[in-house]
Amino acid sequence: MSRYSIMSVVLVLLNILLATAPAHSFAHKHSQPGESNLTVGNFIDFSQWLGIDYGQPTLRKRYDYVIVGAGPAGSVLATRLTEDPAVTVLLLEAGRAEIPLVSTVPLGAPNLQATDYNFAYESEVQTRGCLGLWDRKCSWPHGRGVGGSSIINYMIYTRGNRRDYDAWAAAGNPGWSWDEMLPYHIRSERANIRDFDRNGFHGRDGPLSVEDCPFRSKVATTFVESAQQAGYPYRDYNAGDQIGVSFLQANTLQGRRVTSGNAYLYPARKRPNLHILTRAWVTKVLINKATKEATGVVFVRDGKTRSVKARKEVILSAGAFESSKLLMLSGIGPAGHLQSLGVPLVQDLPVGELLYEHPGVFGPVFIVRKPIDNSISLDGDINFSNFIQYLKGRGVFTTNSVESLMYVKSPVAASPDSGLPDVEVMQAFSSIDYDTGTGTPRAFRLTNTTFDGYFRPIMNLRSFQYLPMLLKPYTRGKLRLKSTNPFHHPIFQYRYFEDDRDIEALVYGMQEAIRVTSQEPFRRIGAELYRKQVPGCEQYTFGTHEYWRCHVMTLTATFHHQVATCKMGPPSDPEAVVDHELRVYGMRRLRVVDIGVVPFPFTAHTSAVAFVIGEKAADLVREAASKEDYRSREKYSSLPPAPSFLWSPFDWPFK
Ligand SMILES: Cc1cc2nc3c(=O)[nH]c(=O)nc-3n(C[C@H](O)[C@H](O)[C@H](O)COP(=O)(O)OP(=O)(O)OC[C@H]3O[C@@H](n4cnc5c(N)ncnc54)[C@H](O)[C@@H]3O)c2cc1C
Repeated sequence: MSRYSIMSVVLVLLNILLATAPAHSFAHKHSQPGESNLTVGNFIDFSQWLGIDYGQPTLRKRYDYVIVGAGPAGSVLATRLTEDPAVTVLLLEAGRAEIPLVSTVPLGAPNLQATDYNFAYESEVQTRGCLGLWDRKCSWPHGRGVGGSSIINYMIYTRGNRRDYDAWAAAGNPGWSWDEMLPYHIRSERANIRDFDRNGFHGRDGPLSVEDCPFRSKVATTFVESAQQAGYPYRDYNAGDQIGVSFLQANTLQGRRVTSGNAYLYPARKRPNLHILTRAWVTKVLINKATKEATGVVFVRDGKTRSVKARKEVILSAGAFESSKLLMLSGIGPAGHLQSLGVPLVQDLPVGELLYEHPGVFGPVFIVRKPIDNSISLDGDINFSNFIQYLKGRGVFTTNSVESLMYVKSPVAASPDSGLPDVEVMQAFSSIDYDTGTGTPRAFRLTNTTFDGYFRPIMNLRSFQYLPMLLKPYTRGKLRLKSTNPFHHPIFQYRYFEDDRDIEALVYGMQEAIRVTSQEPFRRIGAELYRKQVPGCEQYTFGTHEYWRCHVMTLTATFHHQVATCKMGPPSDPEAVVDHELRVYGMRRLRVVDIGVVPFPFTAHTSAVAFVIGEKAADLVREAASKEDYRSREKYSSLPPAPSFLWSPFDWPFK
């Protein structure tokens, strides 16, 4: 048997094992019934044998910095800070190490949501959205493990619009404008994008690989051509301006998923001054109440509660939900809410008072009547030849299914600026019926009625779909603690489409997708709008405005880009939790460094932004350390020098 075929068999077996094993984990026993953090795939900890080995550090009592959470921002920060061998960092991560063979296959992304790499949150029961989904709740997955959500996300690399960054800075946050943040994008990136990587906006030497998806179907090329005919210019949407169309730029390396773990931490994991502790769930920030200084954290590992001290700073990089949760559990949050739960108040701040999401919709769906390829079903595509292609860095396994992006501006957009889109239309190479298993329907909570009534009838046809995503929602929500149990999920008080303009913007995006698909290049491949009514919308005549509104409210998609729970803003901003240097207001030696600080919805999928928050935070922290003498508080001891940071792709199985 060749090396390739052995690896293929291993890959299939691992996927099956991970996706089907029953649920169990150390946090499970702390969760309430019906509220398991887990779905399936947690019974056996495969990561102990197959995961990347981050070592079993013997913990010190104190580190210079204790960072909570190894998502994109936390991983970058830990890696950059420990470039200085005199700086010691402990990175505590609630989840496990990545299993490269399982997590790196882009086409398998939806299946990862059924594993322990997902906190598996869900929205509250909805009345105006998610109506065709289980219990009328949208799925709010959230990554857990070394890599955070970059382990389970769709790898779409978008930085956002220059106007977003400029508005961020103009809101009283110096240092966050486009011109100031672009160098961080360039510093983090290793671009391999055929048409654009030499246009001056991309980096070539950073740890984070960004490349054209190696797989590109005929639908994608037809879409990009048609969108141009419909008036959308072909452009690099990562160069500051976005209205237009382009192929997907993805966080992959030769078609394999790139995470913050394997891009940043993996090459740095042997530094003696960086300790990475997995399965360490932080439950509280230790605070000196007299001085309002963060002094360390408490965490639970293997059922044991321990604490560790920070000589300089405690930095929360636990993501948009968990950093807010940790602050509140530690007494930092809205006074009334904390008092109602009996949490002693340390600092009254609007933590979790604001929460934005990027809602979207599955559809419109099209059927392709002319033969363009054989990609009818996932079952059909799981074959030996595609495995070989994948191992060579090519083929259908290298796509997350989204192939190109179009940025449009709807008539209900709040900003009059014609250069700021409010809807992104993603073109996927297939529609949901392609996934003949349960991965995608389960990931998005589609009910059997929805799947059987709408997608199953086209299972044997070549179809594809659009995913319009609302970039600038009007709807705002809140995040609250459910209880003082740190293992309980938070409550998301988020009501989809509470503001009706959010539905209107998405309907506009769908209609633009239909207009583009009516162009001549699509006629050449026989693209035809799928006209079946979504179950629940039968009372509306197909194609009317009312019908599309119902479609949006029923087949609601959610894209997991929640922000603003620890909003950054100036002292005058009543919603601000952190200042422009990511320091928690009213506290000392405590920062939040993750996507939750972004003050408003970005015209981007949020991962690239999280990476540069980590990059910039590293500079801010280093600068603060150079000014402030933390040594006066604790005796300073430096560890032996670390090897210098060299970027390298994962050693295995890619070498
Ligand atoms: C399913 C999905 C698909 C997505 N698709 C895309 C996409 O295609 N493109 C894109 O740009 N963005 C995408 N995103 C969003 C993007 O991945 C996130 O915005 C980004 O990862 C946020 O990074 P972060 O550093 O803020 O933290 P996170 O990625 O949220 O990581 C936080 C880490 O902290 C850990 N943690 C949390 N609480 C604790 C605790 N108490 N103790 C210890 N550790 C803790 C978590 O386990 C996690 O590892 C997607 C997200 C999801 C969930």
